[in-house]
Amino acid sequence: MPQEIEVLLPPEVAYDEMARYRALLNAAGLVPGQADFVHLRKRSIDARGRQPQVRLRADIYQTPPPANLFGPWFHYSNVSQARRSVLIVGAGPAGLFAALRAIELGIKPIVLERGKDVRTRRRDLAALNKEHIVDSDSNYCFGEGGAGTYSDGKLYTRATKRGDVGRILRLLVQHGATPDILVDAHPHIGTNKLPYVVQALRDTIREAGGEVRFETRVTDLVLEQNNLRGVVTATGEALEADAVILATGHSARDIYELLHRRGVLIEAKPFALGVRVEHPQELIDQAQYRRKDRGGLPAASYALVHQTQWQNKQRGVFSFCMCPGGFIVPAATAPGEVVVNGMSPSRRDSRFANSGIVTAIELEDMDLRQYGALAGLRLQQDIEQRACQLAGNTQLAPAQRLGDFLKGKVSAELLETSYQPGLVSLQMEEVLGTGLAERLRQGFRNFGQKIPGYATNAAQIVGVESRTSSPVRIPRDRDTLQHPEVRGLFPCGEGAGYAGGIVSAAMDGERCAEAVLAAISA
Ligand code: FAD
Repeated sequence: MPQEIEVLLPPEVAYDEMARYRALLNAAGLVPGQADFVHLRKRSIDARGRQPQVRLRADIYQTPPPANLFGPWFHYSNVSQARRSVLIVGAGPAGLFAALRAIELGIKPIVLERGKDVRTRRRDLAALNKEHIVDSDSNYCFGEGGAGTYSDGKLYTRATKRGDVGRILRLLVQHGATPDILVDAHPHIGTNKLPYVVQALRDTIREAGGEVRFETRVTDLVLEQNNLRGVVTATGEALEADAVILATGHSARDIYELLHRRGVLIEAKPFALGVRVEHPQELIDQAQYRRKDRGGLPAASYALVHQTQWQNKQRGVFSFCMCPGGFIVPAATAPGEVVVNGMSPSRRDSRFANSGIVTAIELEDMDLRQYGALAGLRLQQDIEQRACQLAGNTQLAPAQRLGDFLKGKVSAELLETSYQPGLVSLQMEEVLGTGLAERLRQGFRNFGQKIPGYATNAAQIVGVESRTSSPVRIPRDRDTLQHPEVRGLFPCGEGAGYAGGIVSAAMDGERCAEAVLAAISA
């Protein structure tokens, strides 16, 4: 049995491999040579005291550690000749993990993805950033790996009861992610590493006899009464299988329109809307760590929330997808709209900290009478199109310095930014509308009391942060995970309203594959 120890160490020691090794042995009363292996199990930052410390939990082995400690943990048999097959629409985390689980269960997955493979997709992202060209099939949301590929790769989730988080993390490590994600309290991979992991996941699917087809947009359903037999692609090809897992993400507006048109029940759903705020990373580091330099600690992050009140309605304003040392990116999926989001590289070493600051949009805020199930989607679309028009009909994004936004004054000059297409100084209230702007102001004022320097002109807000989650839910039965009215349709992941992030989408993908097996076995 290993000896379990827990220690608090200064960051300079905790993040230096040799120094850490000696400190852990010392804490166990051992000297180098007396232990076979030191296995780090958990690492978290404790910034409550005057000086931040790093809490480590480790197992010290004085005998050789078990072989399965290092993986590989997962093995796949070949399913190319399997009797059963499943069509999986979308190669985001939900679709890819559904495919891997299907293989484990002996079902052949056929993954259909409208976008391109990760490498080719990168060229379209360059055109988006430099030439403002939005390809509606290949962008920051669409393409291999889905919205998760060019992201921060943050891997923590609150949905721990909806699946096995550790399993998802081990799968990612087996496909090339750093083993640190198994240890860190707030694991992340980084946008520079994610494409390789995604490519390795695809290789595993193909090597096990599954199919992954790129540039294959699904445009219709093969419906026989209330049974879904398959799908039709943009080229007119009809594909059939035992079941269809629909994992098209929160930005596939054409899929929601298709379901609506074909009479498949969908529902409007609350979501969140706001802006992205950008600060110098140094300001956030100094406020969070209360020291002049980081001293070996990773770029600091924050999580903020405040209850606001406007016209007798209470709404939370909260930070969302905070990216320390990151970049703001153009996340539009069609020409004529401006949408921003954030990502960061594995080292989180850009000079900027950015975060979505958003507020809940409830059903009562939507025009349900006119737009029905698509009411949230229309509201989201309107604001994205207004942002684009007011900023000049390119991918230039509307922006305002935060202190000016609080005073209602257009910024005479904007700050340097990580947003590559560029910014236009505007009164953000014109883009957001009075209600949303007022709530965000209340939120920002409160955040300024929590983090010194936060709500000042040292920061600027960039709009609009509108793709936080899906404005539509595709209903499904709690037990069978099938659509309540269409047999053979398994709504999956973030776009269907059952996930919010990479890990929860991956876990939902796995659950849907298991539900497909249960349905076809029955
Ligand atoms: P998606 O990842 O959206 O995948 C859906 C896929 O379906 C896409 O590849 C799309 O091209 C495809 N598709 C759509 N329509 C069709 C069609 N008609 N035919 C065929 N294919 C279709 N989450 C985190 O947990 N951590 C982060 O750090 C993080 N950062 C993010 C940064 C950015 C810039 C963005 C945009 C998102 C970020 N997210 C992050 C959110 C996360 O990426 C999503 O929650 C997650 O990817 C959802 O997974 P999904 O598989 O359900 O859908």
